[in-house]
Amino acid sequence: MAAEVNVKFEKFEEYYGDIQQVKKIMDQCDHCGSPLVLSHLSDYNNLIVQESARCSECGGGNRKVVHILN
Ligand SMILES: [Zn+2]
Repeated sequence: MAAEVNVKFEKFEEYYGDIQQVKKIMDQCDHCGSPLVLSHLSDYNNLIVQESARCSECGGGNRKVVHILN
């Protein structure tokens, strides 16, 4: 479906540890640990939300995750 190579579907098995650990994984840059800037793009026709993350400090941590709403 999605044409973008960078998109991956969310798998909850990837998250481990307690809620603090999960939040840290989701909200911080892999490279420098700075908070990521998140943006969400909703596609209600396909019932998905595409989340994009980018580090404001080093420009790394680019990530796109598709959330399926159901
Ligand atoms: Zn960074």
